Amino acid sequence: MKKVVKFGGSSLASASQMQKVKQIITSDPDRRYVIPSAPGRRYSDDAKVTDMLYQCYDAAAAGEDITDRIGRIQSRFREIIDGLNLDLDLSDEFALIKDHFMRQAGRDYAASRGEYLNGKVLAAYLGFRFIDAAEVICFTESGSFDSEKTHEILRERLKNMEQAVIPGFYGAMPDGSIKTFSRGGSDVTGSIVARAVRADVYENWTDVSGVLVADPRIVSNPEVVETITYRELRELSYMGATVLHEDAIFPVRSEGIPIHILNTNHPEDKGTLIVESTCRSPRYVITGIAGKKGFCSINIEKDMMNSEIGFGRRVLQVFEDNEISFEHTPSGIDTFSVLVHQDEFMEKEQSVISGLHRAVHPDTIDLEGDLALIAVVGRGMKAKKGTAGLIFSALAHARVNIKMIDQGSSELNIIIGVRNEDFEAAIKAIYDIFVVAEME
Ligand code: ASP
Repeated sequence: MKKVVKFGGSSLASASQMQKVKQIITSDPDRRYVIPSAPGRRYSDDAKVTDMLYQCYDAAAAGEDITDRIGRIQSRFREIIDGLNLDLDLSDEFALIKDHFMRQAGRDYAASRGEYLNGKVLAAYLGFRFIDAAEVICFTESGSFDSEKTHEILRERLKNMEQAVIPGFYGAMPDGSIKTFSRGGSDVTGSIVARAVRADVYENWTDVSGVLVADPRIVSNPEVVETITYRELRELSYMGATVLHEDAIFPVRSEGIPIHILNTNHPEDKGTLIVESTCRSPRYVITGIAGKKGFCSINIEKDMMNSEIGFGRRVLQVFEDNEISFEHTPSGIDTFSVLVHQDEFMEKEQSVISGLHRAVHPDTIDLEGDLALIAVVGRGMKAKKGTAGLIFSALAHARVNIKMIDQGSSELNIIIGVRNEDFEAAIKAIYDIFVVAEME
């Protein structure tokens, strides 16, 4: 078996965390390719090394003296190296980094140094080969990820290499300049490596025991999802659940490689398995609940709208002309609503209203802001009767007024619109009816 293991920043924030990581890796010889993030927070108001690097670079670009700032970053690494009793000296690396910062080698270069140096530390600690991601993760001249070139180069490079540490988050453009993925991008590197070596599983080690059924800031101690499909995860992530970097799904998904989310601080926990498809029935009818606040509904009314061919297209054209993307379009016989992100819409609202008047001559247009959307997601809903009914009665009991309902044709999700102020109560009520009630 071959496993690719990615460790997030909090798993590598200190020497004691690094020790846990080594223990995890050495306890399973299949864990052969390791992708580290930069050191993250050691405690809640600590700074992430990536943020320190960005700030340091900005200070250098503004012509400030960065000696102290570089010193603080260096001491984060020294603390780890000393704590692990490693014979590793990064002074030359830091001298070079400082020099590059002052010569303005780029913000991406700056940010990438956290992963680069942490990769060096981890490789020395594990006794694994270090591969600079700049040599194997390729971006095009225009800065987008070059998937096929990367795949070829990585596959060749790792073909006969038993074990390696490859830093996450960055790669290089054809001219050699460093380019990063967006924040949290080490997840993407892990997925790319897993595809290149045809891993049996891509383990993503973090500081939670998997994907949670609901946001723990709203529901206390939510259950962990045991198995989730890529599609379910995509629905939940789109609606605000933060588990993995969005782009981390694609490389492994195309090869049918599962992702296993695991907790570095509780390696014995089962975690969450993310798969293409599964015949395992979900534990509860729903797999997860996620949601976002800050939507606005544009409600358009016009008598006999139902017989006006092209009405919907003309309405949506107005949104397109104003470069606003829409989320949902619930409709009635003589009503048509468009749900959009309020912050995107606000500054263009009057232009949209006048555009709609010109395009469809409505009887009335009414705007309703401060709405929240909640997605109740689950592959189990398709085979089960009464899911929507349960949601509605739970919300009625919680005295939450439902402003909108939308069920996707895949029957994978039901979207509910409520007022922003009812958002938390609605999520709790849905969680209780599907999870807490089932457990009792
Ligand atoms: N260190 C980078 C960040 O903080 C990338 C990562 O951790 O995945 O976003």
